[in-house]
Amino acid sequence: MARYTGSKCRLCRREGTKLFLRGDRCYTDKCAYERRPYAPGQHGRRRKKSSDYEIQLREKQKVKRLYGVLEAQFRRYFQIAEAKKGVTGTNLLRILELRLDNVVYRLGFAQSRNQARQLVKHGHFLVNGRKVDIPSFQVRVGDEIVVKEKSRNLAIIQESQEAIARRAVPGWLELNAQEYKGVVKALPEREDITFPINENLIVELYSK
Ligand code: SF4
Repeated sequence: MARYTGSKCRLCRREGTKLFLRGDRCYTDKCAYERRPYAPGQHGRRRKKSSDYEIQLREKQKVKRLYGVLEAQFRRYFQIAEAKKGVTGTNLLRILELRLDNVVYRLGFAQSRNQARQLVKHGHFLVNGRKVDIPSFQVRVGDEIVVKEKSRNLAIIQESQEAIARRAVPGWLELNAQEYKGVVKALPEREDITFPINENLIVELYSK
């Protein structure tokens, strides 16, 4: 499947916010958005008037890029969210949060969602004792996510565990760092997602 392989920092600059796509570097003064907080390209510094459509589109692109999801899959998630009971925007964010690659990142076994996706693809995790190498796998309440024993000494995982202190593990997950294990305690609620997202704009965009 086609995946964006260009500069990740360019995405942050395009969306006008830090998306934390490069792990540790995002917290240093090497962050490209900190140094050049305007859109990339020749006209990046120009002020533009934005239409409602453009604002909605940018919000959708921001969330897609934050979770590293492609358009077709994002739209599918929206359709599932719409069909579920409850608030569509919250359902959508919950589906994104429950992706295995996101959970691995949230538990601090990877420094970014991209890194988490690679680790999952390479089969370093067990869910309820079985190897799962599908980054989009949806975890459920009660699921146990464990780093495989022979993968525990990987430098990436060791370094990530040291870095987790910077971003707390959300309340809907429980981390047992000694056992390299995480448990999904509850479904993530809207207030658990602290990154600034206006999901209503995405609902408006797709409801046109
Ligand atoms: Fe975005 Fe991280 Fe690059 Fe900064 S360092 S621009 S937060 S990906």
